[in-house]
Amino acid sequence: MTLERTFSIVKPDAVQRNLIGAIYQRIENAGFRIVAAKMLHLTREQAEGFYAEHQGKPFFEKLVNFMTSGPIMVQVLEGENTIAGYRELMGKTNPEEAARGTLRADYAVNHTFNSVHGSDSPESAQREISYFFAADELCDRED
Ligand code: UDP
Repeated sequence: MTLERTFSIVKPDAVQRNLIGAIYQRIENAGFRIVAAKMLHLTREQAEGFYAEHQGKPFFEKLVNFMTSGPIMVQVLEGENTIAGYRELMGKTNPEEAARGTLRADYAVNHTFNSVHGSDSPESAQREISYFFAADELCDRED
């Protein structure tokens, strides 16, 4: 079995509505292991850097305002096929298009306030994990 890691965020709308536990439960029930986690309140600079690929898009300001509006949980998930598998668990970006039973279908407020983030490729996962975590903050949970 090849273990893969992805980067995940519980966004401000979900933290504010006390959904951290519910979302962590869904992550664990899906078979992913949390190998690092912390709560942060992003600065503007951190949010702009994290979402640099979206700079210049019409929703960029709204996104940065949202992501700096309150605390978030950031975590690293590990398991089999974790990048694609966690994207599937999250559902589509716009909750109106997200499949039933996905995190966004169940918890997102709208297209921007959509409760969760997950890396979309191995390259993004690597960049995003190291954006928020030092190597020694990741725990080895293999058994
Ligand atoms: N977003 C938005 N409007 C859009 C597209 C995206 O507000 O039309 C926000 C939304 O919070 C989304 C984030 O910007 O999760 C990043 O967009 P991306 O296309 O990377 O979607 P994701 O990978 O999060 O599904």
